Formats: sequence, structure tokens, C-alpha cells
Amino acid sequence: QRPLEEVDPELAAALRAERARQESTLEMIASENFVPRAVLDCQGSVLTNKYAEGYPGRRYYGGCEHVDVAESLAIERAKALFGAEHANVQPHAGAQANTAVYMALLEAGDTILGMKLDHGGHLTHGMRLNFSGRYFQVVAYGVRKDDFLVDMDEVARLAREHRPRLIIAGWSAYPRQLDFARFREIADEVGAYLLVDMAHFAGLVAAGEHPNPVPYADVVTTTTHKTLGGARGGMILCRGELAKKIDSAVFPGIQGGPLMHAIAAKAVTLRIAASEAFRERQRRTREGAAILAEELIAGGLDVLTGGTDVHLVLVDLRSSELDGKQAEDRLHRIGITVNRNTVPFDPRPPMVSSGVRIGTPALATRGFVGDDFREVGRIIAAALTQPFDTALEGELRERVRVLAERHPLYVSPQAAAPA
Ligand code: PLP
Repeated sequence: QRPLEEVDPELAAALRAERARQESTLEMIASENFVPRAVLDCQGSVLTNKYAEGYPGRRYYGGCEHVDVAESLAIERAKALFGAEHANVQPHAGAQANTAVYMALLEAGDTILGMKLDHGGHLTHGMRLNFSGRYFQVVAYGVRKDDFLVDMDEVARLAREHRPRLIIAGWSAYPRQLDFARFREIADEVGAYLLVDMAHFAGLVAAGEHPNPVPYADVVTTTTHKTLGGARGGMILCRGELAKKIDSAVFPGIQGGPLMHAIAAKAVTLRIAASEAFRERQRRTREGAAILAEELIAGGLDVLTGGTDVHLVLVDLRSSELDGKQAEDRLHRIGITVNRNTVPFDPRPPMVSSGVRIGTPALATRGFVGDDFREVGRIIAAALTQPFDTALEGELRERVRVLAERHPLYVSPQAAAPA
């Protein structure tokens, strides 16, 4: 029973270095967050040893009485938090949650209607190289050229023309709220299922900072590690009448044994997500993104849609000499981690791109408040608009260091962010 430091010093060093990176830099990748200590405790627990194919009370293995408790807690908490009739907490990740939904509701060759990848959709919503693009007929809607908002008239027109079996509302890079009621209307008109993929904004929904898609959708999928701030994994919520189909699509449809340590961690995540401290954090997440957008615009940058209603901001560099890759590199050099992102109607190739996606969830978890986000916005605007010489780089790196030190992430070698 020797510790990792002794068993594998090389790997232990990589883990230590990664923790130091997370502590000393500002994490602004919109899909990332810092899990609470309680989640790390579950994920590093003996539950990883257990096989538990099946569902609580109906397992194909003996000795499941304790993991049944963990999974039942996760299911009940998910249902209560989002007001859903049924929850499946076994999908290993967000992609698997979507795969299971397609498996449950579609036949190969059916038509799906989702958001274009380069307008903010996700790979699993019909990208050519993804299973969703290979096994289904894909029709895609996008945003309007004049205001960068999803064009609901186009969604309706495409739905009437192509009669999809499934309509997908959800995104990985979009700074506004979707009109779930209108999506429902369109799905009803053409006899399609409506899937809302709230992977990105589930935390905001849980906190009442974003409309809840559950009353509108047949099925809602999510990850549990983005704004929700917990264990890396996926989850499916659905109406009671689809429960059996969804459950058997997850197991035995696409997965074998569930990751019980991750499911226990999801249970904790969902408990925390029902707390007042969590709601306060989601408020800071959303307000922080709005402040960030304000400062970026004041600093001379273009921001898609002129702001944000959610936890992320999309910087539009189409009219800048700086491309997305260069912007990402500059920010990396001063200690801010973001990802470059295509913007709709992007003239540059995807590997370079003309956008940067900047999110506030991880910093809000770290305790950042309005003034901190204002300072972050000023630092980013300076980095992306001023001549990036050694003096500026040094000054901005120092300002990042001050912010990181003001909000320590790990207070002891094992501990992560507070709940
Ligand atoms: N759905 C959306 C909208 C996402 O943004 C993502 C991840 O980025 C996923 C699904 C897939 O999640 P995972 O990376 O956990 O498979």
C-alpha cells in the first residue's frame, strides 16, 4: 500500500506540476471548473473497485448494496434539482449521454437537426467525423449574420423541409439563452423529439440563473463537470415514459459497468448544487462573464452579440490582425488559459480561427468577485489590443499572479476548492 510518490515518482511529479499550474494560472476555459474536495474523495475511493452492471436493485453482480445507495442518491438528487421525472446518471461523459439518447430514440439513417459546429454546436450534434454525423442524416441550423443569434425561423423552415426525428437544442460556444418554448413548438409541429443538451449551462439552471429546459424537452443531457462544477461525467434526464428506453440504451446499449466512484461523486456534486453557496457562486459566474464582456468591449475588442447571458464570452477577432491561435498563445504567456474558437462566418481555418472563448466558472469557484473579473477583463483587453512587448508581457503576468494569489485554490496538498 505504498503512496503514488513511491510507486511512480515520474507520474507523481506530473500531478504535482499540474496542481501548481492550476494554482498559479487563471483557468478560463469555459468548460472547466475546480471540483470540491468531497468530489475528489469519491473519485479516489474504493468504489472504483466495484462492478455494478444494471441499475440499483437490479444488478448483474453481487455485493452492490452500498453502491446502490450512491447511485440512488445521485438519481433522486438529479430529479429533485432539475424537476425531472427520470434520471440516468451512468453515462461516462457528455458524449456518451448523447450517444445513448440517439441509440434510444433513433434508427441509423434517421434525420437529426442540430446547431452547426462552427456556429457553436457540439461534435455529437452531427459533426461529419463524429458517430452522429456518420450514422444519421444531418441537417444543421446556425446563427444570423447580423446579430449572431440562433435563427428560429431557419430552425422551423429546416424542420418543415427535412422532418427530422430529433431536434437538438444546445451548444458549446454560444453566449445567449435558447428559446426552448419555440423549439418545443417546432418539434411538435413536425413530430420530432426535442433533446436539450445543457452540458454547458446546467449549473446556471440548477441555480435558477438560466431557464430550465426540462419542462420543454423530451430528453435533457448534461455533463456534470462544467458549470455544474463536479465529477467529470454525463447524465440524462427524461420524461417517465422514455425512462426504460433511455436506461437500456445506456446499459446494455452502449456501456458496460458503470463507474461507481464517478457516480458517487455525481451524487455529491448534485447535493452541493442544491445549496445556497452554489447559487451564489453561479450568480458570480454569470455576473463575472457580463463584467468581463463589458471590459473587453471598453478595451477595444469585439464581443459576439455585444455581451453574454451565460458563463462565457466569445471574442470576435475577424477584424483584428491577431488570430485566435495568436490570442490564445498571448494569454497563455501571461498565465491565462483559454481556448481559441471559430466564430460564425469565420474566414480563418479552424486550427487558427478568429475567436477566443473565455469562461468564468472556474474563477468564480476560486472566489473571484466583480472587481476581480473587471481586472481580468482589463488584463485580457490589454494583451489582445496593445503591442505585446516584453514590458507589457511582464506587467500583465505580474497582475495575473496577484489575482491568483488573492484566491488560493488548494489550501493543503490534498484539498481542492471549497464546496
Ligand atoms: N455536449 C456539449 C454541448 C458539450 O459542450 C460537450 C463538451 O464539450 C459535450 C456534450 C461532451 O461532453 P464530454 O466532453 O464530457 O464527452
